[in-house]
Parts: sequence; C-alpha cells; structure tokens
Amino acid sequence: MERKNIWETFDAKHLKKLETLNQEYMEFLDHGKTERECIDTIVNTIEKEGYRELESVIKSGEELSQGDMVYSVWMNKSIVMFRIGEKPMTEGINILGAHIDSPRLDIKQNPLYEEGGFAYLDTHYYGGVKKYQWVAIPLALHGVVVKKDGTTIELNIGENEKDPVFFVSDLLIHLSQEQLEKKASKVIEGEALDIIVGNKPLVIDRKADKGKDKEHDKESGKEPAKEAVKAGILDILKNSYGIEEEDFISAELEVVPAGKAREAGLDRSMILAYGQDDRVCAFTSMRAMLDVKESDRTACCILVDKEEIGSVGATGMQSKFFENAVAEVMELCGEYSELNVRRCLARSCMLSSDVSSAFDPSFASSFDKKNVAYLGSGMVFNKFTGSRGKSGSNDANAEYLAHLRSILADKKVNFQTAELGRVDLGGGGTIAYILALYGMNVVDCGVAVLNMHAPWEATSKADVYETYRGYKAFVEEASM
Ligand code: MN
Ligand code: MN
Repeated sequence: MERKNIWETFDAKHLKKLETLNQEYMEFLDHGKTERECIDTIVNTIEKEGYRELESVIKSGEELSQGDMVYSVWMNKSIVMFRIGEKPMTEGINILGAHIDSPRLDIKQNPLYEEGGFAYLDTHYYGGVKKYQWVAIPLALHGVVVKKDGTTIELNIGENEKDPVFFVSDLLIHLSQEQLEKKASKVIEGEALDIIVGNKPLVIDRKADKGKDKEHDKESGKEPAKEAVKAGILDILKNSYGIEEEDFISAELEVVPAGKAREAGLDRSMILAYGQDDRVCAFTSMRAMLDVKESDRTACCILVDKEEIGSVGATGMQSKFFENAVAEVMELCGEYSELNVRRCLARSCMLSSDVSSAFDPSFASSFDKKNVAYLGSGMVFNKFTGSRGKSGSNDANAEYLAHLRSILADKKVNFQTAELGRVDLGGGGTIAYILALYGMNVVDCGVAVLNMHAPWEATSKADVYETYRGYKAFVEEASM
C-alpha cells in the first residue's frame, strides 16, 4: 500500500465540515490543558446536547431506554458516556476509548524554594518527556489547590496575554562546551526542571512594625526579609489567591506549555498544539458520540486519566470505575446481573484510540516506511503496539479487523495501517490490553502525530476529520 493523499478525496462540503470540526478541536485543546479542565469542557459540551449525569438518574428512580444519554465522572479526571441503543446491552456495546492526560511537569508537594535570588517551584515530570525540550520556553501553571476546609482554588496562570508566564532556565551556549558533550538524556536532569517563579525580594517595612528589631537600615526603616524572594512569592500567593505554603500538600498543579493551539503551514493543513496525545482522539470520540443519532447497539465513550504512566490509579483505565458504570447503566436498563455485565463486556467492540507516530523524513531510519503512518493519510490502525517482539501489546483479531475494514469501506473513510516504528527500536502501549481482558474485540487506532510528547505536537486537519468520521461509522455499524 502506498501513502495516500486524502485531501484530494474531499469535496467542498467535506472541506467546510473539516474546517469547522478543526476549529472546534482547537478550542477544545485551549480549554482543556489538564485532565480536570478537559472534564469540565466535555461535561459542558455534552450537557448542552442532552447528556445527563448518571448519579442523578439513579437518584430519580427513572429507567433508561433507547436514545437516552448519560455520563459519569470519576474524581474529576475520567468520564464515561453512554447512548442507549436499540438492542439489549447484554448483546454487547460499541466503545470508543481514549485518554486525556498528557506529559507535563507536575509541581511537587513541598515545591517552593529560593536560590541565587530566584524563587523556584520544584517539579516532577509526568509521563515520557525529552527533558531538554522543556527549557527556555514560556510555561503556564494550571490546576487546583484544595484547602484544609475543602474549598478548591482553581489556578490558570500564563494563558491570557496579560498573564505572567514561567520558565525553566538553560545554560547559555557560550558556556555549554561540557553540557553539549553529555548524552541528550543527561543534558537537562529531572531535578533541574524547576520553574522560575520570581526574582523580586519582599521588603518589610520595620517602621510600621513597632517593637521589632530596628537595627538594620535605620535610615529607611526597611530591610529585606530572609529568603526575601520566596517571601515575596508567598505574599502574592496569599494575597492574590488565598494560598498558604502548606496548601501545596493538597494541590495538583501542572506546568504546561503556555499558548493556544495554532494552525500550522502556509496551507494551514496542520495543527500545532500541546497535549494532542491523546486529546485529539478524546475530542473526535466525544464529537462522534454526540453526532450519532441512531444505533442498534449502545454507544459508549470512555476518556481516562493516567495512560501516560501505565493506566494506574482510581482514574486510570485499570480502575473498576468503567465496569461499575456499565453495571449501573445495565441496572437502569433493567438488564443487570453479574453474568449479564460479563456477557456485555465480552461481546463488546472497542476502538482503543490513541495517537500513532507519524513518519518523519528527518528521522527516516527510525521507521519502516511500508508500515508507518503518514501525516495527512487518514485514520491509523495499529493491529498491535508493544515493543521488541510485540511485548505488552494487544494484538487485534484478524476477523475483527476484517469487520472494521468493511465498515470503513462502506462509509468511504480513508485509513492506513501502521506500527509505531522500526522493529527493535522501542515502542509503547495504550489502554487496549486492559479492555481486552474482558475478552472483547479491541484494536488500537487513532491519529498520526509528529513530535509526539514534545511541548508542541503536530497533527493533520485531514486526519482529525477522517478519524472523527471513522469513529462515528464504528459506533453506528460495528457488531460482532
Ligand atoms: Mn497516548
Ligand atoms: Mn503518550
């Protein structure tokens, strides 16, 4: 098979829809730079289109029937949506799954310190990052600080043009002879990825502070505080945000590249943005769910946290949250039994949607040109992922792939098949193997990305559109 140019397959009507979808996608990225922000954005979007919270339906004592739409959020970081189909859920459902966490720098629990006249916040990177990519670029701080009394302070600093930004320093080239001899993994070490948050000492007015030591600087009555720059930052945190130093203990603050998603290329064919792994699949899955108006089988979309660190924890794909939600929905459909939940999951079909590596001509030898995704060549299917001998992979069944091929051919969706890269070179995993544990048919698929996991990742608008069309076709037609 050759690289396809799918742009030439779109007529004017499709091109218009493609641009509208991509505009909406860029706004989605701008509003969701953390898991929590993604959840807020998704809930706002789907509630407007008729989705109701599962918990409230349970409390109301109502039952669910064909066409009803419900969602459930777990710990503000994962969400599952259901649209009830015509057939009983026991016969299986069609599941779109993706993740909404992305690589970044997380603020540590005791982060604030002063050194050499700078105030820093200490970080621990999250997910796989090339550490040298995170220095000397504008960064924004997003997240929540939960106070002892349970109140939550939401922070989003660095996205508005008038906001300040933060940065990690790098050594000037003039003195970098030794640094540049190091391995790229050591050029910037994890403990050097602390963000600079201030440089101005807080000055305490001792005259106004009667009874205290007045020996220093008798002329003005002013003296710098100890660790005065840190003190200045604490002062701002307290006065502007109501945050005390110890509140960092119960905070989840994420440092991400500052700035909005942008169109890329003179032809505006691509999107350059932070966090497209895997919000590009999360967005297109959500949009497909909203645009499905009829389906035999119940449609489901699960968007999870913690994929980048192994799908662990209460909000990751390995959590029982998903299975519990399926059980609750089956109960509301009058179908619940433990056996029926197992039957439902075993007979389900899933697209485990995640990004795939796009062929990069500058690093051609890292790929097998016949088995790699090309940017702008359509939705990508990875029969398997894993690394070095398919280790850790879900290897989709041939019969399932044949079924999907026929659906995509019917709906004229352009797709390509790929592996991540050259055999023996490395690899990666997704959430596919976890759902496959139920015995259901699962395949990895999604959108090709250039510079995956870099602060700014690139995708093709054509692929975003075609993947959305593929997801919609799958939800409407899959049945095995
Ligand atoms: Mn991913
Ligand atoms: Mn990833």
